[in-house]
Amino acid sequence: MPDDSNAEYSRALPLPSPDSVPFWDGAKEHKLLIQKCRNCATHWHPPSTICPGCGSRDNDWVESSGRGTVFSFVTYHRAYHEGWKGDIPYVVAVVELEEGARILSNVVGIAADQVVCDMNVEVMFDDVTEDVTLPKFRPV
Ligand code: ZN
Repeated sequence: MPDDSNAEYSRALPLPSPDSVPFWDGAKEHKLLIQKCRNCATHWHPPSTICPGCGSRDNDWVESSGRGTVFSFVTYHRAYHEGWKGDIPYVVAVVELEEGARILSNVVGIAADQVVCDMNVEVMFDDVTEDVTLPKFRPV
């Protein structure tokens, strides 16, 4: 479960690249932003300058509905970083958004052994520090 005590946040934090700054800025405003191609309408994540559908560099950042399904997941029963020690078991999932883009995140708000593929989830925003918000997903 998310830790409400920001001062105690001891996990690795994302280091935005120039391509992903809009994504992290959006998350901070509790908006899930993904890219959409102006040429072929493909939505994608993670951020990149080139559309995976057609190779165009012409795209916009758009707000996802935040709804999707669990495409695939793994359950971690071992902490590979000190910061996760108190959270095992936890779920790392590929969530397929309604728009078609897939995003790697955590499924929270449910026991790890209850997560299944194709379950409906929606985004929630975990403000882990003053500067960083992590989009995560919970069951609908
Ligand atoms: Zn395209």
